[in-house]
Amino acid sequence: MIQSSAPKHMLRQIRDIMAMRDEAGPRLQKLVSVIAANMQAQVCSIYLRHSDDSMELWATKGLASEAIHNIKLAPNEGLVGEVARKLSPVHVKNAQEHQAFSFQPETMEQDFISFLGVPILRARRLLGVLVVQDNQERLFSHDAVEALQNVAMVLAEIVASGELLSHEELAGVPVRPLQPLTILGKSVVSGLAMGQAVLFEPHIVGESRIAEDSEVEMTRMLAALDGLRKSLDQLFAGKGHAFGEPTREVMNAYRMFAHDQSWVDRLSKAVSAGLTAEAAVERVRGEYRHRLLRARDPYLRERLHDLEDLTNRLLRHLGGDVALNLPKDTILVARNIGPAELLELDRSKLRGLVLEEGSRTSHAAIVAGAMRLPVVGALPGLLAAISEGNTLLVDAETGSLQIRPDSETKESFIERLRVRQQRRAVFSKFKDKPAISVDGQRVELFLNAGLKIDLPQLETTGADGIGLFRTEFQFLLADQLPKQQQLTELYSDVFKAAADKPVVFRTLDLGGDKVLPYVSHAREPNPALGWRAIRMAMDRPGMFRYQLRALLNAANGKTLRVMFPLVSTVDEFLQAKELLKKEVQRLNRFGHTNLPKELKIGCMIETPAMVWQLDQLLPHTDFISVGANDLLQYFFAADRENIRVSERYDPLHIGAVLMLRQIVDTAKKYNVPVSICGEMAGRRADAALLLALGFRQLSVTASAIGPLKQLVLSLDIRALSNQLNVWLSENNPNLRKKLLAFAKSAKINL
Ligand code: PEP
Ligand code: MG
Repeated sequence: MIQSSAPKHMLRQIRDIMAMRDEAGPRLQKLVSVIAANMQAQVCSIYLRHSDDSMELWATKGLASEAIHNIKLAPNEGLVGEVARKLSPVHVKNAQEHQAFSFQPETMEQDFISFLGVPILRARRLLGVLVVQDNQERLFSHDAVEALQNVAMVLAEIVASGELLSHEELAGVPVRPLQPLTILGKSVVSGLAMGQAVLFEPHIVGESRIAEDSEVEMTRMLAALDGLRKSLDQLFAGKGHAFGEPTREVMNAYRMFAHDQSWVDRLSKAVSAGLTAEAAVERVRGEYRHRLLRARDPYLRERLHDLEDLTNRLLRHLGGDVALNLPKDTILVARNIGPAELLELDRSKLRGLVLEEGSRTSHAAIVAGAMRLPVVGALPGLLAAISEGNTLLVDAETGSLQIRPDSETKESFIERLRVRQQRRAVFSKFKDKPAISVDGQRVELFLNAGLKIDLPQLETTGADGIGLFRTEFQFLLADQLPKQQQLTELYSDVFKAAADKPVVFRTLDLGGDKVLPYVSHAREPNPALGWRAIRMAMDRPGMFRYQLRALLNAANGKTLRVMFPLVSTVDEFLQAKELLKKEVQRLNRFGHTNLPKELKIGCMIETPAMVWQLDQLLPHTDFISVGANDLLQYFFAADRENIRVSERYDPLHIGAVLMLRQIVDTAKKYNVPVSICGEMAGRRADAALLLALGFRQLSVTASAIGPLKQLVLSLDIRALSNQLNVWLSENNPNLRKKLLAFAKSAKINL
């Protein structure tokens, strides 16, 4: 049986081996011998995974040494394959009776009966399997299984760090830490960026996982836990706002782990076993993650996000860095990131963002766009391939990422950065020129905004106004519900920055993925189809009124344009409009003198249901704005936050284009102004098609204004429109292809 001081002893021995100057082969051999001895097992073997998912034996104590590098188990073969498939320990008393057992004559392992295998995981990727075997029928103790998992975690770092095996040796293993590497993903926010990798999920490397002094580590852990709880208490301390008290449910979600004795016990136990406090946090994160991912209860599965957030916070408390302190020229590396988390970061240090997941119309992408932050998403294997501090080249024009580039690649990238800079200078030359097409049609280019930092862009881009001011970002940014006075001040600043240019305020669009930690919000099985935007506003009119009041006060003699998000029925729109009118009457009654001189009330077209109610809606609305991100997500039934499906459908698919045409044509019939403000409007090819359909008001991110103006100045809209009618009458499904061919022959750069 493994003794309580034994795990610590084993980790120390591993550290000593790592400090030796021997060749890799002998050191690996020593490692397996030490592990076998400490586990009191006859055999210890390390298998590493190849990129084809086969498992190669790299070191063994106890099996025939000729088997090293000669045994290659097919994917999922044998008990080793079982560990790889399950990504969790496999423990059997009599291996040969197990259905997954596969006998390899080269190993001479017929004498070994019991088997314990644990995955070697790094950043959730499987690097290999660590196995111990014995010649008796035996079950290893729970502590022994844990100790072996701790060793596997340390081993993962050793393998990935290149400390033990050079990258030539590791060729074929999907971890080549020192070589340049290119990963292809998708452009989320266009641009180029160069900088150093900072992992959003802090990750600890190499030998720093093994504690020098466990008592010191325990003290650090307890202090960090204390700090974490206090900071959570502060976060939830905001009281007495329009949503009511932050409810137990929300606090419980976050505090569930922070105060959960079993979490704390697991952490303490991992420290007692000889890990550093940081390594213990990661070890326990892995365990819980595995358990929560397998939970049948969707509520429990969704707790995973809370756990991840909390774990990251705890690691920052351990590092003494409660806020994520970014070095200059940071490229942030994450699996995914929420809009609120992104807003918390210091923009002046950030150059770019790379995400293992992440899609173009996700709210984090929109925030990144507002921050003018180049983003590449959908990068498979990203987290496993990068170490903190690696040089990264983010090419969010083509959607690729270069890790640890060689000097020539870096040089040519710097050259591209220079060219881009020059192009921007060209755009700024015609910033004061109106966007008039070759055939003389005036197009209005508006800005999508939502933060104070967006406001100067009105001036620098020469936009015609703000076509969409997303008011919820202010709420996502705050630790507690903003006061009415703060909102009024922000909206007044917006009016001031816009001077005589129009601004369209979109009322709060919360819910879905935009959840405030300080506000009660039950988890929903289908957030995109759930309680969000206008639905939430109408059910919580106190909150909604308080925003409307701030808008009315800020307008102060100017024209106030307000629109409502995610409306599904005309009734919903009329009720919201009524509420706004009542607020005006109320302020009038109280003798307010700073009311707007004019009120224009619009409706966002974001649900297919509204497209078929335009005849009923348009007589009641001053303008409409197509929220193409949502409209297309609901049209194609493809969650915009889910990378697997979000880019499966082309926004220029004939079905979507016919729907958009119906909107423009009906709005024209009623003489109601129509704009479009989804992300597609900011992409040149899509925008060209929208112009051909009849849209004349596009509202886009700041970085798209210059390129779009250049497009309009070179485009004969009428000619393209005629072409489009032909393509549509032919029922041509591939409009994008036709459009690109048209642009090429007309020498227009899309
Ligand atoms: C949209 O849905 O297209 C839109 C502009 O709103 P948001 O992206 O904020 O949901
Ligand atoms: Mg929307």
